[in-house]
Amino acid sequence: MRLFIGVDFPKRVVDELCSLQNTIRDLVRGGRFPAPDNLHLTLQFLGETPESRIAEIHRALSAVASRHAPFQLAVDDRIGYFGSMNPVRVAWVGMKGDVSALSAIQADVATAMSELGFAAEERAYKPHITLARDAFFLQSEVNLKNGAINLPVTPFPLMRIEQFALISSEIDQGRRRYRPLAVFRLAGEK
Ligand code: ATP
Ligand code: MG
Repeated sequence: MRLFIGVDFPKRVVDELCSLQNTIRDLVRGGRFPAPDNLHLTLQFLGETPESRIAEIHRALSAVASRHAPFQLAVDDRIGYFGSMNPVRVAWVGMKGDVSALSAIQADVATAMSELGFAAEERAYKPHITLARDAFFLQSEVNLKNGAINLPVTPFPLMRIEQFALISSEIDQGRRRYRPLAVFRLAGEK
């Protein structure tokens, strides 16, 4: 099964992310837009993994969660993009708040998973939520500037992040579907 480790957001935040997606939709031609249920923050992608390995992954992630405390995070109000200017490969929003707590958890997850043989990303971790892929901006000179997509964003509320999840990613009737297999509550002391 195809697995990754990620963080889900409260519904009011997902709703705001959807309205941001809709703003982008109106400014582009083409583009693929993750379904609302799939908007999330990835900590680590594990990829195709035998089901028999879930128990040891579960154990390792429980240990990580026991070492970290809940923390505050908010979706940032600037939209960035990865890849070429136009079409834009990935349009995304970043995170603000206690990003260092998030990065510490991500680094701990990466170390724990590398001990189980899952290669860590070579690129530095850049926390982001993917809003759109392969989108061609119709007025690129207006919308795209210095690695940012110039759009007004309603400020997002602070969220208390209390858990992360091991999630399976499957194609079901032609649609990408994520399914949380286990959640890990952050149980460390501040
Ligand atoms: P699709 O690939 O069908 O467009 P998706 O990207 O949402 O859908 P997955 O490819 O299963 O679904 O990815 C799950 C999560 O892991 C996503 O956040 C994705 O960005 C991330 N991810 C996928 N592949 C990699 C990879 N090779 N390296 C790092 N992160 C990845
Ligand atoms: Mg993918």
